[in-house]
Amino acid sequence: MTTVAAYAAPAAKAPLERTTIERRAVGEYDVLIDIKFAGVCHSDIHQAREGWGEAIFPMVPGHEIAGVVAEVGPGVTRFQVGDRVGVGCMVDSCRECENCLRGEEQYCLNGMVGTYNAVGKDGEPTYGGYSEKIVVDENYVIRIPDGLSLDIAAPLLCAGITTYSPLSHWNAGPGKKVAIVGLGGLGHMAVKIAHAMGAEVTVLSQSLRKKDDGLKLGADHYYATSDPKTFEELAGTFDLIVSTVSAPMDFGALLSLLKVDGALVNVGAPEEPVALNLFSVIGGRKSLAGSMIGGIRETQEMLDFCAEHGIGAEIELISAAEVNEAYERVLASDVRYRFVIDTATI
Ligand SMILES: [Zn+2]
Ligand SMILES: [Zn+2]
Repeated sequence: MTTVAAYAAPAAKAPLERTTIERRAVGEYDVLIDIKFAGVCHSDIHQAREGWGEAIFPMVPGHEIAGVVAEVGPGVTRFQVGDRVGVGCMVDSCRECENCLRGEEQYCLNGMVGTYNAVGKDGEPTYGGYSEKIVVDENYVIRIPDGLSLDIAAPLLCAGITTYSPLSHWNAGPGKKVAIVGLGGLGHMAVKIAHAMGAEVTVLSQSLRKKDDGLKLGADHYYATSDPKTFEELAGTFDLIVSTVSAPMDFGALLSLLKVDGALVNVGAPEEPVALNLFSVIGGRKSLAGSMIGGIRETQEMLDFCAEHGIGAEIELISAAEVNEAYERVLASDVRYRFVIDTATI
């Protein structure tokens, strides 16, 4: 066991504070990672404040982890000391069910093990990236290509894969009209990735406040959802809409913007259920779908794609002591576009 410094929420809704946690000894197939940067994801706040239900405390959030391998177990074959690596939203899964076997560990039928707020196979709670070091089985560690700086790569481990996976699955590319709902941490990654895939990209945001940013990030068009004319003008336009908003949305209105056979994919996770009139999918043979992060193999594919296209997150680097203030700013949509903790400050 190794004692490491971390930032933790001692109880639900309590501010995060500096503490220490124990990391397990490096096992045969484990990698010890010196964490350099950890992104602040909206879901960290949902969980630290029990917005998604009962959680495990103390909680060390953080599932956008970038760092450097410091030690490897004797059975490790894929990594060496000094390698640049990342860890995303999961650190284990059953490895035997049909979803694990086809590389979609995020949908493990026996439940994937979350990077934090979960219980590992050893029966101990998992602690996330707001810490100095983490020990992870090599099968759940991803290589960060040399072309990507670790600070702007960290948010790709959740925000990047969460948007890459549905864009790839629903074939965003040349000739496709893709709308991204919301230009926050997830949305700004979705715009960059969809643009790099060759799609014609439209941002649907509450207001036109971030329009200049959106166009710079790669959007071709930008509309305000607060303006009813947007829905008249864009009716029946899109092949694919990816909604990244984690507040309840008017999904019926968004579905009206799809072409026949179009798909609206939700990747946000509102705390409350939403009501939907199902006539909005019947007319036009439309799909309303969801998508959650991506498998380990696909996460590697996403990082390689981002390195090839020079894509990183737009970040505001903060010290660990600023994390509580950062949470308030995320809730107020006052971040362009991801806070990343410099873990050297823990
Ligand atoms: Zn996340
Ligand atoms: Zn499984």
